[in-house]
Amino acid sequence: MSSTINGGISFWYAQNGIPDPREPLPGDTSADVCIVGGGYTGLWTAYYLKKAAPFLNITVLEARFCGYGASGRNGGWLYNGIAGRDRYARLHGRDSAVRLQQAMNDTVTEVVRAAAEEDIDADIHQGGVLEVAYTPAQLARLKAFHETELSYGETDRLLLGARETAGRIRVAGAVGSSWTPHGARIHPVKLVKGLADTVAALGVTIHESTPVTEIRPKHAVTPYGTVRAPYILRCTEGFTAGLKGQKRSWLPMNSSMIATEPLPKEIWDSIGWDGRETLGDMAHAYMYAQRTADDRIALGGRGIPYRYGSRTDNDGRTQAATIEALRDILVRFFPTTAGIRIDHAWSGVLGVPRDWCATVTLDRSTGLGWAGGYVGSGVATANLAARTLRDLVQQDSGQHGPTELTTLPWVNHKVRKWEPEPFRWIGVHTLYAAYRGADRRELTARTTDTDRVATLADKISGRH
Ligand SMILES: Cc1cc2nc3c(=O)[nH]c(=O)nc-3n(C[C@H](O)[C@H](O)[C@H](O)COP(=O)(O)OP(=O)(O)OC[C@H]3O[C@@H](n4cnc5c(N)ncnc54)[C@H](O)[C@@H]3O)c2cc1C
Repeated sequence: MSSTINGGISFWYAQNGIPDPREPLPGDTSADVCIVGGGYTGLWTAYYLKKAAPFLNITVLEARFCGYGASGRNGGWLYNGIAGRDRYARLHGRDSAVRLQQAMNDTVTEVVRAAAEEDIDADIHQGGVLEVAYTPAQLARLKAFHETELSYGETDRLLLGARETAGRIRVAGAVGSSWTPHGARIHPVKLVKGLADTVAALGVTIHESTPVTEIRPKHAVTPYGTVRAPYILRCTEGFTAGLKGQKRSWLPMNSSMIATEPLPKEIWDSIGWDGRETLGDMAHAYMYAQRTADDRIALGGRGIPYRYGSRTDNDGRTQAATIEALRDILVRFFPTTAGIRIDHAWSGVLGVPRDWCATVTLDRSTGLGWAGGYVGSGVATANLAARTLRDLVQQDSGQHGPTELTTLPWVNHKVRKWEPEPFRWIGVHTLYAAYRGADRRELTARTTDTDRVATLADKISGRH
């Protein structure tokens, strides 16, 4: 454990280097579009807008450096999941949620296409996503999940038994899995760095080390000056609570990861994983993992879920207990990894709206827009959000009418705020304590029923 690097933003940066900083905002200025936040959402938005309308003067303001947030720390699952789809089906009808799902399937392809077109080498491997079950209750949930995904038009998804699952990845005790081709492994930092460089080369102005303190119609205010623009687009995801007036909007939820040393051939022989699928499970406090391009396992899950008062970050530092808990999952999944070194541990924040539904919005009366609340599925969703923001801005400025993307059900969705403290803190910690307890009970129970506490927690929290 002592040789484990803790924090330092993420393993991906330790491997790939923190970029040289771009110049901060030099003073008051104006733009056609001002984007706040230089993660996938902000950068893809700048990319698609500039490609569609090269004459636009676009400025990105980033508090630290592009990719400082979740976009430089995630598990590298580029996949077709989107937070809130089932709720959108209930609110807007099934057909519109099916269209949303189809758009997400296409988004995985679009990210792979755009990265190739722009020569961004992000270690992309299209091995799909494998989600495993290792308890009877998880298997029942897996089957229900599989049927649901098929019903949203994912006819190429496979339900695999224990033997077929082991033929892909030998997860100890796995009794079944569901595999979809709509997923790819990526190197998060290579993608975000490549994207920032591409956007800058297209002529978008990026100012780093420039925190926006307040957003109001046509103004993004920073300590160094104000950017005036008809459109101000907020792309700050898990950091949104730090902006004036946004304290109780999306809750900053922590997710933590570890990366092993590169594993020797004997261990890979015992595990398999030749298809380099991204790997997840059906636990309530779920895990996610990838086999990296240099043959490590990078594995994540929920540590301390939330910090009091919506505090966000200390450059990814992670509690020792969380590192141990993630290591326990690794060794439970792959017993032959018991003696291996954990090279790095880190954490980051994702944005969780009160109803757990991702949204993309442009308020036409003020020119204020935002996208996010992706919960744990933002790598692909940020790209769909960005193309949608492009269409909304172009529609509002009279460049074209509504498009397929502007009519998807997550557009202009409204959600209520989170409860004030201490209720927010108590609520989230109780929720995750309930999930962890439910996972423990399901590990020893023989029943296929989902633990009742977890079902109740889902209902109370608004998660399902
Ligand atoms: C550990 C972890 C693992 C994850 N794994 C996956 C995964 O495998 N697959 C998946 O689909 N999703 C995953 N996610 C979620 C996914 O990474 C995010 O949803 C996605 O990166 C969000 O991109 P974004 O651009 O909206 O936000 P971010 O990447 O967080 O970017 C926001 C940016 O805004 C900047 N900023 C914040 N406040 C201000 C301000 N006031 N002024 C100026 N700039 C500001 C920040 O510095 C940051 O660079 C994971 C998240 C975490 C934390």
